Amino acid sequence: MHNKTVSELKKYLEEKKISSVELTKHFVDRIKAIDPHLNSFISLTEEYAITQAKKIDLEISKGKIRPLAGIPLAQKDIFCTKGLKTTCGSKMLENFISPYNATVVEKLNDAGMVIIGKTNMDEFAMGSSNETSYFGDVKNPWDIEYVPGGSSGGSAASVAARLIPCSTGTDTGGSIRQPASLTGVCGIKPTYGRVSRYGMIAFASSLDQAGIFTRTAEDCAILLTHISGYDPKDSTSSRKDVPDYEKECKQKFTSMTIGIPIEFLDGLDNTVKEVFEESIKVLEKNGCKFKKISLKSSKLGVSAYQVVAPAECSSNLSRFDGVRFGHRADNTKNIDDLYKKSRSEGFGQEVKRRILIGTYALSAGYYDAYYLKAQKIRKVISNEFAEAFKEVDLILGPTAPDCAFKIGEKSNDPIAMYLSDVFTVSTNLAGLPAMSLPMGFKNHLPLGLQIIGNHFDEAKILSLAHHYQKITDWHTKKPKLSGD
Ligand code: GLN
Repeated sequence: MHNKTVSELKKYLEEKKISSVELTKHFVDRIKAIDPHLNSFISLTEEYAITQAKKIDLEISKGKIRPLAGIPLAQKDIFCTKGLKTTCGSKMLENFISPYNATVVEKLNDAGMVIIGKTNMDEFAMGSSNETSYFGDVKNPWDIEYVPGGSSGGSAASVAARLIPCSTGTDTGGSIRQPASLTGVCGIKPTYGRVSRYGMIAFASSLDQAGIFTRTAEDCAILLTHISGYDPKDSTSSRKDVPDYEKECKQKFTSMTIGIPIEFLDGLDNTVKEVFEESIKVLEKNGCKFKKISLKSSKLGVSAYQVVAPAECSSNLSRFDGVRFGHRADNTKNIDDLYKKSRSEGFGQEVKRRILIGTYALSAGYYDAYYLKAQKIRKVISNEFAEAFKEVDLILGPTAPDCAFKIGEKSNDPIAMYLSDVFTVSTNLAGLPAMSLPMGFKNHLPLGLQIIGNHFDEAKILSLAHHYQKITDWHTKKPKLSGD
């Protein structure tokens, strides 16, 4: 059952070939057996899941079938889940139980999905390797000496190891696509505003976006339809109609013109380049036209991102003060002492670094030199994408500059770590949708292909991804650790 896709499981459940309780127990048992090697979950919500599954089974027996009735799901531990712990990978929220559900959680619950657990992540979603989590590193199922990418590393690793058929993630600068690439699964980050951010613990509000991990493009499409849409609780969510992404992506593939940014290939690792060029060839033989384009300013993306994201995070994280919720230090002398001690004890090193950088960049005298400059670069990057999309339907490139790296390899070199996001951050700065899907291997480690679309062109992205998965079989490869 764990090798089945969401689309297949949907049929099994609807045709009563398996019950939701049986399916839930199957995945819970797998997590208990395999996850001690991976650490991809922060909490397992077994009791809650069985109760939900029973409820869904009863509904199915009465003929009420919700669109995703009884399918198990893992939620990234950044999404508030009513009555269940939501830690955001931090000591600060180690014991936090949310009084409400995030809209993404509410929507997937309403669709009939069963939350089996909350996945491990970099603390407050800051990281590219899942080494900043207070709950320990997540391991890559293809080789446990390697990182799974971050910050949604637990969500990616659990799908890759077949511990769960699908999971949620968030992407501020690449946190869905980069771990999807490093673990060999599909991950989609929709257009900014496509999905509500309500109840998703904020890192950098103008960049954060929720998305999905699955093993196929078709499954990404199924789930995306259910999480998208306007939400009165998030004023930045879009009122644009939500298409049936599954239907759209499965429609007969029509020829597309695809742009390849020359800057993405400049100095690229040889194997990554070869594997990427091979996927271009495959698509060229199967109805796609390619065109070289230039995204000159994309190289400035990481620098601009590393000013904008910390600036916003320094403001967002000021709510963790030891007063309202989260960790509160003992034996404090006065209110300042309480703030200082609670934050010193509750936040890890990377989070503190980002808060310090952000506060500095926003301070009087430096604001124009850093924050304003970064926002100007952001605009230039957006304009370049807009120009490119006048000529091409989609943009294609590698998701990450290399395959997974060893645990510990970049922990003491933040700049090297930040550069893992060199191909992903620009799309967040421009608010564009993008997806990563498996395109091959470097040695034994997976590599991801990134498809970038114009605003609200998720259906086009998914259509190309689905087409690619019909003519290749990279998405069917699985790590040994996943068993049969
Ligand atoms: N790796 C990037 C960072 O460290 C992006 C994180 C994210 O997308 N949440 O900020």
